[in-house]
Amino acid sequence: MTVPLTAERANARTADAVVRIRGLHKSFGPTEVLRGVDFQVRRGEVVCVVGPSGSGKSTLLRCANLLETPSAGRVVVRGVDITDPEADIDRVRRGIGMVFQQFNLFPHLNVLENLTIAQRRVLRRSSGEAAAVARENLAKVGLSGKEDSYPAQLSGGQQQRVAIARALSMGPGLMLFDEPTSALDPELVGDVLTVMRTLADEGMTMMVVTHEMAFAREVADRVVFLDEGRILEQGRPEHVLAEPVHPRTRAFLSRII
Ligand code: ADP
Ligand code: MG
Repeated sequence: MTVPLTAERANARTADAVVRIRGLHKSFGPTEVLRGVDFQVRRGEVVCVVGPSGSGKSTLLRCANLLETPSAGRVVVRGVDITDPEADIDRVRRGIGMVFQQFNLFPHLNVLENLTIAQRRVLRRSSGEAAAVARENLAKVGLSGKEDSYPAQLSGGQQQRVAIARALSMGPGLMLFDEPTSALDPELVGDVLTVMRTLADEGMTMMVVTHEMAFAREVADRVVFLDEGRILEQGRPEHVLAEPVHPRTRAFLSRII
């Protein structure tokens, strides 16, 4: 039986939104990169953002933690309107983990130090507490025993898993991934995707820009297709990926799959 969506349930759903984006526009000079994006991610949801190069995927992700300032529109993260000049952006950002294509580890710090530095400096955890959290997360990404290694001594896949463990060590309520496997040799992609799948299974709220369609199909609750700064299509992966309605989605998928 279908239960009608009462106002109360509709409100509960909105309250459940970890990210709520309304009317988002972003221009760089004369170039309008995002042209009116409405979008939300609910608690525990995994949303994969797909689309052609230059369509604005990274910009969308970067607007979600205010690495980019929107030109117009509202971005509400975990109940805080981060486009409000009064908002405590740093506090909101602390609750968001971000993983980039380039791993951005500190090259002069070993793995344990990479995982503990922000915990100590930003969260004011003691060295012992930070190290314990770091070890727990290293185990989660399958890298126990690599505490003393330096980034250059690790493979790209291992470095990316360290970057994920570092983000997790801050206890985020939302993880943003921007093409986390695009810089990796093909044989190293699987281990990183496995870690991401585990996080999804554990209920982590995730926004993932990716070209890994098999991952999107299996793990995403929703796939969003972005094209020229607009969402053309979104829905369950089995719909968007298998039976895309929009001709541009079809053209994109036929090129990539
Ligand atoms: P995608 O991640 O989908 O490939 P991006 O969000 O990186 O797309 O970029 C969308 C468009 O915005 C591109 O044309 C890119 O050149 C432009 N762009 C992105 N960041 C900047 C910037 N800081 N300054 C100027 N143009 C930018
Ligand atoms: Mg990008």
